[in-house]
Amino acid sequence: MMKKYIFYIKYIFYKPRAVFFFNDLKCSSNSNRNIIDEQSFRKFVHIFKHAFEYSPFFYKKYTEAGLDLESIKTKEDIIKIPILTKQEVKDNLFDILTVKPNHNNLGKGVTGGSTGAPMTYFSDKKLPLEAFAWRYLSWWGLVPWDNGAFIWRMTRKGKLKNFINVLAWWPVKKIRLDASFLDDKKFELFAKNINKLKPSLIQGYIGAVYELCLYIEKNKVDIFSPKAIWVTSAPITKFQREVIERVFKAPLYNEYGSSEIPWIAAQCKQRKYLHVNAEGRYLEILNTDYNGEGDIIITDLLNYHFPLIRYELGDRTKFIDTKCGCGCNLPLIDEVKGREGDVIIVPNIGKIDCSFLTTIFDPYPEAIKAFQLIQHKNFDITLKVVPNTSYALWEKQVNIVKDNLILLTKNKLRVDVEQCCEILSDRGKSRYIIREN
Ligand SMILES: [Zn+2]
Repeated sequence: MMKKYIFYIKYIFYKPRAVFFFNDLKCSSNSNRNIIDEQSFRKFVHIFKHAFEYSPFFYKKYTEAGLDLESIKTKEDIIKIPILTKQEVKDNLFDILTVKPNHNNLGKGVTGGSTGAPMTYFSDKKLPLEAFAWRYLSWWGLVPWDNGAFIWRMTRKGKLKNFINVLAWWPVKKIRLDASFLDDKKFELFAKNINKLKPSLIQGYIGAVYELCLYIEKNKVDIFSPKAIWVTSAPITKFQREVIERVFKAPLYNEYGSSEIPWIAAQCKQRKYLHVNAEGRYLEILNTDYNGEGDIIITDLLNYHFPLIRYELGDRTKFIDTKCGCGCNLPLIDEVKGREGDVIIVPNIGKIDCSFLTTIFDPYPEAIKAFQLIQHKNFDITLKVVPNTSYALWEKQVNIVKDNLILLTKNKLRVDVEQCCEILSDRGKSRYIIREN
């Protein structure tokens, strides 16, 4: 009880909007489906008009498409709005902005993206997006102030910053495992820390959580059982799900989102389908096949600074047209396909998770158009790149990335760079890592 009050009091001072938004979200997921859809559509029209008026890029794009401010009157009108591609975002970064690039609340990020082409994007730092995470937790029988164990790729912070972080979260305790390089020693220590902290939640990249479970099982470690395991960033194979749930004796929940549009959907207690966060995301599925499965087109209803409207993410799923047993009326989608959860193997040392490898070009988004890692039978790696030859520093930066890869494999593997004109896609979907076997 004490933890709850301290958590809320801190948040009321730090970011009151998050607390209010969480309350709204709790109410709206039980609303009638028509009301949810209607509100989502109204928000869509609002951000469409805003982008049209204040973003030079959207003004041009929509005017050329023959649209005007009043073009969207019903849901059926939405298909008139042209799709936004990743390439357009890359090419028109500053023209998409509706605020000045030096705006105080503007956050900047870089995504590896599931297609292997890094992209810069902007966010609104003041948005209370953590409320979506809190709602997920409430679906799974947890609370935001529960202790947690996290497996993420981490940027190195100083001791002082770490200390401030611990203070900021107190009395909530969090432990972290750096997923950028995983080996048995790290797993051993992390398993010990989990047993010490007894966290209600374990959260991380699917590949890394899975590797941890394989370690625990192989070494017969007696591990604490959390209330929930929350994984992101990749589709889960049935096999992975079985192993993880068996090892932790806890339910695994899958979440879907991307760096540029996070918090899209998550599984509820039923663990079957994902509920779309319709209060913040407008999700469409286009080009559906015989199965009802098609391309995910997503609109961020909240990010007014850097609007992403009818944005093509490159993933596939289908709508599920049944009412969920959990009582929540948010739209349902099937598990998302088209993301990679693979690893690069460094013999006798460990594995490098795909979620980390997707970020190797993050510091140099201009250097390349796409990349792919191929691990050969003898474990050597070919880094295939489609260089951005109009950028003078591309060659230098590709070589830095190559050297970083060699360091990452602790000098055990040979890494060669291969230039190519395009990365061939696998059934319409680029793959990041290909392991020859
Ligand atoms: Zn549900």
